[in-house]
Amino acid sequence: MIFYDLPLYRPPAEADNIIIQATLGCSHNQCSYCTMYKSKRYTVRPLSEVQREIEALAQANPHANKVFLADGDALALPTQHLALLLRLLKNSFPRLSRVSLYATAQNFLEKSVEELKELREGGLSLSYFGIETGNDELLGKIDKGVNAAQMIEALHRAHEANIKIS
Ligand code: SF4
Repeated sequence: MIFYDLPLYRPPAEADNIIIQATLGCSHNQCSYCTMYKSKRYTVRPLSEVQREIEALAQANPHANKVFLADGDALALPTQHLALLLRLLKNSFPRLSRVSLYATAQNFLEKSVEELKELREGGLSLSYFGIETGNDELLGKIDKGVNAAQMIEALHRAHEANIKIS
């Protein structure tokens, strides 16, 4: 049995897929228009705890082929932590064809293209990404935490690593 830490958000396209909370909350959590994770403090969940859930979900859904990693920006996880998690998923779901997550521009900028490529090779293939606006003044007003040039650089890194952006 999985006990999700609520509230739990996922993209509409992930409705039928396995959801695993690799992190809780959002590491930025400051965008002025967003209340999604205001009740949570950003937390990295221990891999051993997540592994138990993956095993239980895999046992109950042996044919599942898509996994979404929650919460707000699981790409904030350290690269090696996320790489281990991706390996666990690959070993647990034999038909796995897609692992996706929400990510911020900051998450991409904190990783090198080589690290992102390693994650891509590990199975991370899709990131849901909120640009909101290309206007620097507005990005500042909404506390997005990056300017337009940084947003573009983050997307270039994703593209170079072949991680699809939605
Ligand atoms: S980065 Fe995303 S989840 Fe985090 S506060 Fe901003 S909009 Fe909300």
